[in-house]
Amino acid sequence: MSFADLGLSDELLRAVTDAGYTEPTPIQRQAIPSVLMGKDLIGIAQTGTGKTAAFVLPMIDVLGEGRTRALMPRSLILEPTRELAAQVAENFEKYGLNHKLSMALLIGGVQMGDQVKALEKGVDVLIATPGRLMDLYGRGKILLTGCSLLVIDEADRMLDMGFIPDIEEICTKLPKNRQTLLFSATMPPPIKKLADKFLTDPKTIEVARPATTNVNITQRIVQVPATAHVKRDVLRRLLQQDEVSTAIIFCNRKTTVRDLNKSLKKHGFRSAEIHGDMDQSARIAELDRFKNGDVNILVASDVAARGLDVKGVSHVFNFDAPWHPDDYVHRIGRTGRGGATGTAYTLVTPEDAENIAEIEKLTGHKIERVPSPVAIDGADEAPAPKRARGGKRDAKKAEPRREEAVAEAPAKPKSRRAAAPVREEGPAPAPREEQRSRPPREERPVRDDRRRRRDQDDGPDEGWNGPIPDFLNYTIEA
Ligand code: ADP
Ligand code: MG
Repeated sequence: MSFADLGLSDELLRAVTDAGYTEPTPIQRQAIPSVLMGKDLIGIAQTGTGKTAAFVLPMIDVLGEGRTRALMPRSLILEPTRELAAQVAENFEKYGLNHKLSMALLIGGVQMGDQVKALEKGVDVLIATPGRLMDLYGRGKILLTGCSLLVIDEADRMLDMGFIPDIEEICTKLPKNRQTLLFSATMPPPIKKLADKFLTDPKTIEVARPATTNVNITQRIVQVPATAHVKRDVLRRLLQQDEVSTAIIFCNRKTTVRDLNKSLKKHGFRSAEIHGDMDQSARIAELDRFKNGDVNILVASDVAARGLDVKGVSHVFNFDAPWHPDDYVHRIGRTGRGGATGTAYTLVTPEDAENIAEIEKLTGHKIERVPSPVAIDGADEAPAPKRARGGKRDAKKAEPRREEAVAEAPAKPKSRRAAAPVREEGPAPAPREEQRSRPPREERPVRDDRRRRRDQDDGPDEGWNGPIPDFLNYTIEA
């Protein structure tokens, strides 16, 4: 089946051809005709299945038929993060090439002035993160009564980030007889509830998960105690013993990203970091260093790495086991690309057991357990510097590590949740912003506990300056 069979206009088909697409993906094939018919839609499909074009393409045609540059925006696309919003805006520009549609990208971290100016001129499409949209709405800068087409993208990630109450509120400001499209990788109960409440007789499309385990990726688990300095020790050994040419190391928290990068550099590794607290130019600078080989290790958080097309690394390390099984697939997919082989190591603490079970259930693959390269028995109970450290090290190297152990002792948390504030340093990650956009505790479902812990640090990114980031199409060839 070709794009031409889906009922899209000739102008749009030209833009699609220019984009280099020859065939619609399964979600596009199923979604586009329904959207063109004006139906509400629930699209359930994993990351990378082409959901953006599944709603952007028909939306352009739907809007193209109406009056352009209306005074009130006619459609609204909600995205959980600035990066994703910017990426959708890029897609909109690419496919909307032959249409005279205007859009405004309403995301945090950018001066509101330009956004307000764009709104005053009149735009057809709003692409927004819920926080900034609510903010502008609260200031009386946006009228949503003309928005007859709403897209809620990445709904499960919206849930992760505590945006559901905001979305509910936004839904009530839009006309009742609008068309609503909801996309999500998974359908947890709160998303189901949201869909029941705000969609009318939706068509549900579910696309099978793509094969999650790439045979080119060797996956390994190394059991470690939940002690940061021991984990770092294990990681360093793995970095040294394996043929690591380029590596991305994932951490669950921004603070861990910073701490780990600092520690790696101290131990003579060439590493850089990207996380949600960095502004766009800083992220680009770090990525460039990775790209041109100044450094061969990039320490990253999921949110910062999401959307980045970073290809061709030899190794992926999960310094922290991901809390979300989808993130595991996403993370390790950075290696073993294009026929190359790659290796993914995951450091697993006793409390990660449940997460690993979920990952193995999702991928249908039992991950090989390999022995730790460091003697770690008993290290969980007490830091026990002498016992935990192999005898191979010279005094110079051992010294800073002892300092680390001391520094970390008071931070050894009962729970991950407690860890963040203690270890926080540098610019504070705007906890007020994050708490503001998260629903009260009791409203959040119990089973999303792990997700909430991530919100704590890598929650809504609202501190980034800059327009549409071109680094979103960043490609790194090994
Ligand atoms: P999702 O939102 O499902 O995660 P995206 O919409 O971001 O996925 O698309 C993932 C990648 O696939 C993008 O690089 C996009 O350009 C590409 N893509 C989307 N549709 C097609 C298509 N029909 N043919 C080829 N590539 C496509
Ligand atoms: Mg998407």
